[in-house]
Amino acid sequence: MSAISKAMEKLMANSSVLRTMFEEGKQMAVKYGKENVFDFSLGNPSTPTPPEFNDAIRQVLDENDSFSLHSYMSNAGYEETRAAIADDLNKRFGSHYGFKDIAMTVGAANAIVAALKVLTDPGDEVVVFAPYFLEYGNYISNFGAVTTVVPPNPPTFIPDPEEFRNALNERTKAVIINNPNNPTGIVYSEDAIKEIAAVLEEAQKKYGHSIYLITDEPYRELVYDGVQVPFIAGYYRNTLMAYSFSKAMSVPGERIGYLAVSPDADEADRISTGLGIAIRVLGCVNEPSLQQKAIVKVLDKFTDVSVYDTNRKILMAGLDKAGLEYVRPDGAFYLFVKTPTEDDREFSERAKNKYHMLLSPGSAFCCPGYVRIAYCVARDTIERALPLFEQLAEEYR
Ligand code: PLP
Repeated sequence: MSAISKAMEKLMANSSVLRTMFEEGKQMAVKYGKENVFDFSLGNPSTPTPPEFNDAIRQVLDENDSFSLHSYMSNAGYEETRAAIADDLNKRFGSHYGFKDIAMTVGAANAIVAALKVLTDPGDEVVVFAPYFLEYGNYISNFGAVTTVVPPNPPTFIPDPEEFRNALNERTKAVIINNPNNPTGIVYSEDAIKEIAAVLEEAQKKYGHSIYLITDEPYRELVYDGVQVPFIAGYYRNTLMAYSFSKAMSVPGERIGYLAVSPDADEADRISTGLGIAIRVLGCVNEPSLQQKAIVKVLDKFTDVSVYDTNRKILMAGLDKAGLEYVRPDGAFYLFVKTPTEDDREFSERAKNKYHMLLSPGSAFCCPGYVRIAYCVARDTIERALPLFEQLAEEYR
């Protein structure tokens, strides 16, 4: 009998399609040559980290003795770091967070998992909007809670309020929303957020308990054409905001993020206390000290978004020429293309086997009939791939 738990057996059998593709891409690069593989599979930032971030790390090493830098601390992080983040949010969004409302986490992933640890019991339901980042399902099932999916609403992919209402019931504990969105690249407008907030308010009254909105916002800074990302906590009191510096500063391997609990949320202080414990018992203990001391020095330094914007424009023009339909992305670094066949997996396999292009099937985001292109790659990769998209599209005419 295997030592592996049943839950892990299940995870191993359904290992992430995207991670598998990423590994395949590496093998293909060895086999065919790196320049002949067009890997659009993973959202790994391709723009340089702002040099100020690396400088900040060096400064922290120079400024601190080993005890002030390398010791244990509160599980939610250094008070100075949390206060600096609260001030930054208050300045930008007119909010009134205090340090106690911010918990430093090991990226947005850890922020979401910690929030779910605080909020959910087995059998509780957490609602997500398709297409969605499939890890949510794994995060939710960690605690025996159940994922309820609101079906996709093409072509805008703005959630349909009626479908959302239907997904809520007396067991709903939380809702996860991702803005700007992976995989569509859309940015939910202020009106869309107001509608979601209205449905939640109504459901809280109907079911007689708080429903928390976990906003997953690692792409908040990656927006184009002057589009504004609504500050969701300003529209709904029971909001827990998961943020990460992974994408905005091109530091995903460093694992720096936080969860901001709206100070006006029901049981805000108890949730914050719970978060410290969640971070501890999930085994993170605290977000690494070096990162916390460095990040406060560079809170306003983001990567050069214009690089992604140029990639986006080149790609959109190329897909237009190829006659492929897609959702116009205003944010993140993803583009969601309608496949000219309903079988997105077949399309993705064909792209891989015949053209050495790695495109993530929409089914991996609970939305068949589409593929996701992660355009956080070198510009040259996109330019050289455009004729291949044309040839691929031509095969379906
Ligand atoms: N949420 C979404 C929608 C993502 O796309 C990702 C990473 O790709 C994450 C969360 C995890 O981000 P982090 O690296 O900050 O944990």
